[in-house]
Formats: sequence, structure tokens, C-alpha cells
Amino acid sequence: SRAALFDADNRVNVTFDDVAGLDEAKEEIKEIVEFLKNPAKFTRLGGKIPKGALLVGPPGTGKTLLAKAVAGEAGVPFFSLSGSDFVEMFVGVGAARVRDLFKQAKEKAPCIIFIDEIDAIGRSRSRASIPGANDERENTLNSLLVEMDGFTTNSGVIILAATNRPDILDPALLRPGRFDRQIAIDKPDIVGREAIFKVHLRPLRLAEDVDPKKLAAQTPGFAGAEIANVCNEAALIAARKNKDRIDMQDFQDAIDRVIGGLEKKNKIISPEE
Ligand code: ATP
Repeated sequence: SRAALFDADNRVNVTFDDVAGLDEAKEEIKEIVEFLKNPAKFTRLGGKIPKGALLVGPPGTGKTLLAKAVAGEAGVPFFSLSGSDFVEMFVGVGAARVRDLFKQAKEKAPCIIFIDEIDAIGRSRSRASIPGANDERENTLNSLLVEMDGFTTNSGVIILAATNRPDILDPALLRPGRFDRQIAIDKPDIVGREAIFKVHLRPLRLAEDVDPKKLAAQTPGFAGAEIANVCNEAALIAARKNKDRIDMQDFQDAIDRVIGGLEKKNKIISPEE
């Protein structure tokens, strides 16, 4: 059903405190929080508030989390959909969903619309591989462009979209007045990983030997999503052993398990290796 695309009341309780690292991205996106909270301050001299920003970075690095934090910090509703929801959609359904989403959002403005995996609908139109097969995706993309052009910048709706493939996006999406700002969300370095561990260790019952710095050093290449996964696995491993607290050994086992999972996934993606 259509309603299932959205959170029940579209409210989120994520704040910037829940997003670790990503200091530059947070700094850039704070401007959008200001636009949502106090639009009049910015339009006073005749300027137009941007309609959208593109969050660009690899999977699991916190793009969705950051978009939610913008809504949470500004205290506005969060509407979301994922580009992958539109794959193999019946004719007309994708475009109707986009129109529906914008209608709801305009009624609840100020608010955030978040489009995850926008490349799934926003792929360059010239790249259509199988003639005909991409018609519905194109309809959906066209309706998105029409909707973005159709509301005024001062309507209080700001659209954030996420992708890890900005290079394949239709240039029409990146034109001024659409997603004309890009915010880079990179994989965390060792300092970032330590900060992310600290966020995800917060709710856990820990033994004294647990050291976020050491955990960060042992997880090169991990994105935030994998770090969250490690913390949860460690808690389950310790619980299975009937421990009262999670210790460093549990984290080590959890890291091994998560690395094992990643290797399996990579094998499925590239079986020739
Ligand atoms: P995808 O592109 O795969 O949708 P994403 O970039 O949107 O990924 P999120 O869905 O935001 O990633 O991240 C998944 C989870 O990983 C978050 O809910 C959070 O628990 C954790 N996480 C990721 N990045 C961070 C971060 N910078 N700080 C804290 N937690 C993070």
C-alpha cells in the first residue's frame, strides 16, 4: 500500500548527536536546518532557498541517518521513498507515487522529502539499455522533475536525495533549482570510526577492557552500518555466553563475523575471484 512508504506520523527523533564523524557534511547540512527553521530570515533580501541537496557516498555511511537528523533537528516531518521501490513498477504507478508524495509533503510543510538510491530512478535517460523496458522509470523521473519545478522554493519543502553513483545521474536532476548542491559522505577514517563506535557503544553494558580506539584500529574499511552491526553482534555473542557484560573478546569475535559476512557478499558479487 502507498501509506506503507512513509513513517506512521513522519516524525523522527534522530539528531546530529546520533551521527558520528562526518563533521564537514554536518556543517554543510546545518544550513538546511536553518532554512527549514527560519525561512524568512533567508528570503528577506530576495534570495531563493535551495530545493534540494544530493548526499553522495558509499553504502552504509550514514546518508539516511543524516537526512533524518536534519528533520529531527528542524523538528519537521520526514517523508521518504527509495528509488529501488520503483523498479519493475506497473505503468503509471511510479509517477503517481511521486505526485502523491509531493502532495502530502506540501500539506505538511515545512518538511523533508528523502529519496534514497535516487540513481535507480534518476539514471541518465540516454543510458536506456533495453528499448521500452525503461519507459516506466523515465515516467517516474519525469514526474519527479515536474514536481521539483512545480513548487516554489519558499514552500518549505526541501528534498534530500542519496546516491553512490552521481556519475550516472541524468544531468537534468543536477540543474540549478533542482539538486544543485552535493554533500560528500565518505567512509570514516580511524577517528571517525572511533566516534561511530562511541555512539553505538552508548546503550550497551560493557566490560572495562572495551576500548573504542582499539576497535577503530581493528576495523579499517568499515562503514558506519558495519560498525553498528559489530556492536550488536558483540552484544548477542556475550549474551549467548551468559555474560553480564560485553568484553573485548566478544567484539573481536563480532568483527571476525562481520568480516566473514562481507567476504561472502563480495564473493557473490564477483564470483570469478
Ligand atoms: P545506504 O546507501 O546503504 O542506504 P546510508 O548511507 O543511507 O546507506 P544509513 O542507512 O544511514 O546509511 O546507515 C545505516 C546505519 O549505520 C545507521 O542507521 C546507523 O546505525 C549506522 N551508521 C552509519 N553511519 C553512521 C554514522 N556516521 N554515525 C553513527 N551511525 C552510523
